[in-house]
Amino acid sequence: MSDAPQRFDAVIVGAGFSGMYMLHRLRELGFSCHVLEAGDGVGGTWYWNRYPGARCDSESMYYSYSFSSELEQEWNWTERYPGQPEILKYLNHVADRFDLRRDITFDTRVNAAHYDEAANEWTITTAAGDTLVATFCIMATGCLSSPNAPGITGLDTFEGATYHTGEWPHEGVDFTGKRVGIIGTGSSAIQAIPLIAEQAEHLTVFQRTPNFMVPAHNGPLDPEFERDWKADYAEWRRKGRESFGGFPYPAGNRSALELSAEEQLEAYEEAWKIGGFRFLSTFYDLIINEDANETAAEFVRSKIAQIVKDPETAQKLMPRDYPIGTKRLALDTHYFETYNRDNVTLVDIKTNPIEAITPSGIRTADDEHTFDAIVFATGFDAMTGALSKIDIRGRGDLALQEKWEAGPKAYLGLGIAGFPNLFTITGPGSPSVLSNMPVSIEQHVDWIADCLVYLRERNVVAIEATVEAEEAWVAHVNEVAGFTLFPRANSWYIGANIPGKPRVFMPYVGGVGPYRARCNEIAAKDYDGFALTSV
Ligand code: FAD
Ligand code: NAP
Repeated sequence: MSDAPQRFDAVIVGAGFSGMYMLHRLRELGFSCHVLEAGDGVGGTWYWNRYPGARCDSESMYYSYSFSSELEQEWNWTERYPGQPEILKYLNHVADRFDLRRDITFDTRVNAAHYDEAANEWTITTAAGDTLVATFCIMATGCLSSPNAPGITGLDTFEGATYHTGEWPHEGVDFTGKRVGIIGTGSSAIQAIPLIAEQAEHLTVFQRTPNFMVPAHNGPLDPEFERDWKADYAEWRRKGRESFGGFPYPAGNRSALELSAEEQLEAYEEAWKIGGFRFLSTFYDLIINEDANETAAEFVRSKIAQIVKDPETAQKLMPRDYPIGTKRLALDTHYFETYNRDNVTLVDIKTNPIEAITPSGIRTADDEHTFDAIVFATGFDAMTGALSKIDIRGRGDLALQEKWEAGPKAYLGLGIAGFPNLFTITGPGSPSVLSNMPVSIEQHVDWIADCLVYLRERNVVAIEATVEAEEAWVAHVNEVAGFTLFPRANSWYIGANIPGKPRVFMPYVGGVGPYRARCNEIAAKDYDGFALTSV
């Protein structure tokens, strides 16, 4: 980049699913825009998370863009759930097909974004000190893009290799003959553990909280299934958009509690056979009624008991402290079976806590473990982490970090009071991480694109969420969460995985369909809840 700041209608930060589509939309609408991306390629999540077994839990036919029917028709997925390399290939194909790269600067981390009130413009500063100036700043920085490396004592003293699943080396890692420790048993760990166990001499898993899982049943995509989908893609997409979670299958219409134990069992067995997230749609009340939820939780625990041969290990693997589905459900491919291997050990760090990382491994209260490598599958500073790492300042030099000190506040997860012309794609207060995310991402991008056209047509130079609308939305987000069992879990949805992070339920659980309708209604009412400033 040259020394003089380049000027754009919009600067977009991030080149994952969100930033790529945002660029495409705005460019087509005649806005000048540019994307800054920390990585050296497109893909976001699928660029960074290259750990063994990294794979999507959304099915390939709907974990994809819907904006181009040509793209939908020409791309052929190979498996029911796409693996990381295939999604990355797809996103690179999208970048090429829509000629996106010419407006993306890679290897460029944004450190600051400051709003100049007098000039009504954002100055975006990169880590290298370059600046770009734009009327609109759009954060497409991702909900799960700021890896959480736990601050365990002695971390820096370890003499072996360390890896975080969210920053995996591009060349891969060969664990053959190695003694490996892995910390964490979330979605990333449960995908990596079976594959690392196959390679390593020994794998020790440090589990803080056991995770509920249902089988993925991955396999090659049936060509007939693909043909059927492609013949009716628009309808499948409509179903996803109008659904609760962005998944195009029906929500449960029965209560678990209206059935006998045998009938419940039959329904769960059927869902278990199908596999995937729809397990939670077996009954409509699993996420809102504790007794209903317990029937599903107990079913999964019974499956763990059947699969894991050592009863003590099976007991350790059974989640009991939170309702099923209130921490992100994981999809299992040979995870529980892995504990039947001789070269795998499970350490329950709730009863036997990690005291320190030592030069040779990990010391727990009861034991000393020697490792050649430690894998941190410890997740992310979710939803706010990537935004908090950027020095974002709005009107009156207000820092976003300061505004969000007690927890994030945003209107629809799209706009923030005090920060005119700043948009967040899938920000806190939107369904985002509770949904099949491409559906939510496309909805946000389309809403922002339509909004910018509206402003341009009416000579409106600034749009900003009002404090009242923001407060009302945050109260609504909390109220809806309070109707569910979600707040019962110490999940990353409420920031519980990051020491010191305020405990606030961040995503909107009201459902993708109703949320979309609300966003559309607000736009139709001339952006109700936003203050517009005209020239
Ligand atoms: P990201 O893909 O996270 O992209 C954000 C980009 O912004 C990154 O490339 C990052 O480098 C860049 N960036 C961030 N900060 C800066 C900065 N300061 N300067 C410059 N660049 C910056 N969702 C589902 O719906 N279904 C799934 O099955 C599913 N599986 C997942 C599996 C894993 C391992 C993970 C981590 C997430 C998964 N997700 C899944 C969620 C996934 O994040 C979204 O589906 C989607 O990829 C998000 O796209 P995005 O563009 O919004 O964010
Ligand atoms: P995660 O779900 O947050 O899991 C992190 C794990 O590390 C948890 O078991 C956590 O325990 C543990 N942990 C965190 N800090 C620790 C510490 N200081 N000491 C010991 N243990 C610690 O992270 P993730 O597995 O990377 O997944 C994050 C999200 O990304 C998922 O929920 C999902 O949305 C997405 N994802 C999706 C897929 C997929 O779709 N296939 C795959 C991977 C990730 P606690 O539970 O006790 O906090």
